[in-house]
Amino acid sequence: MTLDKRLGQRFLPYGANYLAWSDMSELREVVEQKVLFRYQTESESMASRLERTVADRLGAAHALAVHNCTEALRLCLISTRPSIGDVVYVPAVTFVAVAGAVLSCGLIPVLVDADESLSMDPTLLPPDARRVVVAHMEGTVARVPRDVPYVIEDCAQSLGARLPDGRHAGTAGYAGTYSFHHNKVLTSGEGGLIVTSDREAWARMRSYHDHGSARVPGRYPTWDADAHYGENFVTSEEVAAVQSQQFRHLDEVLAGLERMYAIAMELLPDRPDLRVLPRAAGDAKVSLRFRWESRELRDAAVDALTARGIANWTLDKYLLPDHPVLKARRSLYADGFPWSHAPDRPLAVSRDGFARTRDLLDRTLCVPLSPELPEQEQIVAAKTVCQVLEVV
Ligand SMILES: *Cc1c(COP(=O)(O)O)cnc(C)c1O
Repeated sequence: MTLDKRLGQRFLPYGANYLAWSDMSELREVVEQKVLFRYQTESESMASRLERTVADRLGAAHALAVHNCTEALRLCLISTRPSIGDVVYVPAVTFVAVAGAVLSCGLIPVLVDADESLSMDPTLLPPDARRVVVAHMEGTVARVPRDVPYVIEDCAQSLGARLPDGRHAGTAGYAGTYSFHHNKVLTSGEGGLIVTSDREAWARMRSYHDHGSARVPGRYPTWDADAHYGENFVTSEEVAAVQSQQFRHLDEVLAGLERMYAIAMELLPDRPDLRVLPRAAGDAKVSLRFRWESRELRDAAVDALTARGIANWTLDKYLLPDHPVLKARRSLYADGFPWSHAPDRPLAVSRDGFARTRDLLDRTLCVPLSPELPEQEQIVAAKTVCQVLEVV
């Protein structure tokens, strides 16, 4: 296929390219078993197998599959046994799901400003911070704060990334969360996963995600005398099967991203008005990140790439201080829950009212990389990006 023909097609992110009927043995298996509920299978469920595989691969003691990463974040937060109105420090630059997860648990998000890499700056956290969500955005590994009892690493956009010490993102704190939404590194349309090495935390999450039950697979659930209420976040066998298929390709996806990133970094021009933001060795190389001298140049680049059919995006949408959900503090509850429980102090931590972060976001542009392409096509694709940017 010629490049121009390929560029004319819709962009498929990462793992979605690896979905193929010829490769769906796990899905075939669960359909042939005719049991799609994980706790009623004859042998070990696909969901349990997936959890074991993920925990082993990422270096965590336990994993739990749920419906999406927002639920995963909620479950992690609830499992810390908070009180209504407790604050949770969250990144000022992240997807609004993080704030929604915090609020829907009856907790209050406090926005913490970003560093130069647009990740949360942990030096801004107050010494008494108890709950912090760190988001590793766009495959970029954020600094994980120390000495905070509950650090939840949101790895929705960074499955497979590694911290500077070699551990996987998601395994340094209390728990890590992952998304299998269509746009993420791997996909099952929707899907979420939690890893933790805290056995009791895992037990609390498992119980809450299954109506507060003590479950023996194959049996009707039972409730201990000291049971608490829960909800139903239990995943389904066919979803776990697709996730297992995707997971088989994780190393291939990560290697394909590394390869195209290296190719592009060789080709990209050295210009005073355009910086390619370097990535750390452990980052998942999901995109090239550009920083322009001005917003006008950035917007011109967006137009030029879009006109050539080259996928690209900005990160403006992630600036939570300007997000309607947070600015207006509205709620569907008649009493404004949980905002009605917010402490009487500023719910943001920034040195300059987010001015610097706003400026960085205004000038940032991301071009996703294509792990599925053979090397020759990656070279052609990277050259095309360079050509388009040259005339901006
Ligand atoms: C996508 C995303 C989420 C939410 O994931 P879902 O699986 O769609 O619920 C949470 N945090 C970040 C940073 C995300 O990018």
